[in-house]
Amino acid sequence: MRALTVVPGQAGSAQVRDVPEPDPGEGSVLVKGLAMGVCGTDAEIVAGHYGEPPPGSDFLVLGHESLGRVLEAPAGSPVTAGDLVVGIVRRPDPVPCPACAVGEWDMCRNGQYTERGIKGRHGYASERWRVEPDFVVRIDAALGDLGILLEPTSVVAKAWEHIERIGGRSRSWSPRRVFVTGAGPIGLLAAMLGVQRGLDVHVLDRVTDGPKPDLVGDLGATYHHTTVEEACGSADVVVECTGVADVVFRVVACNAPDGVVCLTGVSSGGRSISIDGGLLNRQMVLQNDVVFGSVNANRDHYQAAADALAAADRSWLGRLITRRHPLADFEAALQRGPDDVKVVVDLVS
Ligand code: BGC
Repeated sequence: MRALTVVPGQAGSAQVRDVPEPDPGEGSVLVKGLAMGVCGTDAEIVAGHYGEPPPGSDFLVLGHESLGRVLEAPAGSPVTAGDLVVGIVRRPDPVPCPACAVGEWDMCRNGQYTERGIKGRHGYASERWRVEPDFVVRIDAALGDLGILLEPTSVVAKAWEHIERIGGRSRSWSPRRVFVTGAGPIGLLAAMLGVQRGLDVHVLDRVTDGPKPDLVGDLGATYHHTTVEEACGSADVVVECTGVADVVFRVVACNAPDGVVCLTGVSSGGRSISIDGGLLNRQMVLQNDVVFGSVNANRDHYQAAADALAAADRSWLGRLITRRHPLADFEAALQRGPDDVKVVVDLVS
């Protein structure tokens, strides 16, 4: 069967290759792969900066954003043949650490977790894949192809859950203004979850045309292409989705007292900026700021994401998918353009 693979650490090594049928050891649920969503992490892996093959393999099957249809599932598993499903990305570490031991693999403490299509496990970008019953999530059939958005939505569902838990440190916390930096898929989905909570959401991005300004406006949020400080406007919650160091430090300085700043962007590193550390510290202390990082998602977050997608406007969600390419055209899918939101690789055509 065909799979989209890379040799981790080797830039430009992405290729479609024939691989053996999935090993039954990977799970008792057999799935026909329908689609793979492409994200910044895939770009990093393809560029040779990130990613790790499974032990004993010199390549890695890509694809952590998945969508498939169940071909076979054992009796008693949460899915049955014909169901539309998504595979969970992370697997707990084998020790396990206290977080993984209670199903919070997204909070793994020893770094020995694995991630399908990213770290030490083959991904889902193959014509068929297997998964353990505990790591597969059923999608509402009405969502159809939009199920490919479940994994990125799970990441922001976790971010929001933690924002709300942290905000709850003050009994009077009642956020109104939310500031999201970056109108990529994570930024737009974070904004969607903010709007679903009845909050006043503001999104900043560099582009002035293309689909992003209208996507933000049609969500009922406000689009800005001005400075961080102007767009932030003393936000109670900031969801930083660019990973750009200059943006990160500026949002830390401009949010409201008792503000919660959630960092979701993984920066590539290697670029220095100069910061007045003392001033930053003073601002954070005197304003009771919390700045925290958030990555990945556990099973509860996938469920929260499925609920959020079910409550969203499907035509708006459909506009997030700005390009689709057949597997043979993977090179085009892996190129990123300024107007791209979510690019999808079709594993069937
Ligand atoms: C994925 C996460 C993963 C992270 C770090 C992101 O693109 O959505 O599931 O934990 O990369 O590898």
